[in-house]
Amino acid sequence: MTERLWAEMYTEQIAQNIARIRAQMAEAAIRAGRKPEEIMLCAATKMNDAEAVKAAVAAGVDCCGENRVQELTAKLPQGAYEGRPVHFIGHLQTNKVKQVVGKVDLIQSVDRIELLACIDKEARKQGVVQNILLEVNIGAEESKSGFTPEAAQQAAANMTEFPGCRLLGLMAIPPVSVHPGDNCRYFAEMHNLFVDISRKTYDNVSMECLSMGMSDDFADAIREGSTMIRVGTAIFGPRNYNV
Ligand SMILES: *Cc1c(COP(=O)(O)O)cnc(C)c1O
Repeated sequence: MTERLWAEMYTEQIAQNIARIRAQMAEAAIRAGRKPEEIMLCAATKMNDAEAVKAAVAAGVDCCGENRVQELTAKLPQGAYEGRPVHFIGHLQTNKVKQVVGKVDLIQSVDRIELLACIDKEARKQGVVQNILLEVNIGAEESKSGFTPEAAQQAAANMTEFPGCRLLGLMAIPPVSVHPGDNCRYFAEMHNLFVDISRKTYDNVSMECLSMGMSDDFADAIREGSTMIRVGTAIFGPRNYNV
């Protein structure tokens, strides 16, 4: 098969996958008494090349989420995300903050105060305001970074100290689930926290986004109040970690 034909088939497959996910999102929303248009679809693009990302953008994802600074830096000049916002969703080292601040519409994965302070400083240096989400380690997993729910509350209350940032919501990656539905309680806890913070009036805070739910559990996340799901595998197929 020619490379061109293969690329066309892959593009078509991505479009079909996205159409299927949209239908599943709408069904989950309606079942929960929510409006389908309340929930954004973020394509988690790690390990997929610019052509695949462009296919996802053309097929109508709401935004793209990149995990690694190196991939972001490579795909930006290739125009991979053109036409849609790009978010950073991976663990971010402070020495790479410069390469991300001002380049992405939203940093979803602000997982510690030190990183928040570093992003704030870089944003002020550039004269921009960087939109962020706080990542919450909702399963209290030792292997994961992220704020505790209490620390996230506290950080939201203190956002006035970080005028280079605007807090737009929360993000979570719950524990890998063994059985379907395992993560519902974590999603519900995240939603409670989101509502709690939303009810307060804090400077530099405008709670619009609750980012949770991935390929295997997005319907549960939508039922519990997610406003943005981040989907990789169900759009692009399995990632090949051996290349
Ligand atoms: C990879 C990734 C996703 C998507 O995971 P899938 O299971 O492939 O849908 C979502 N969020 C983050 C932060 C990721 O790294």
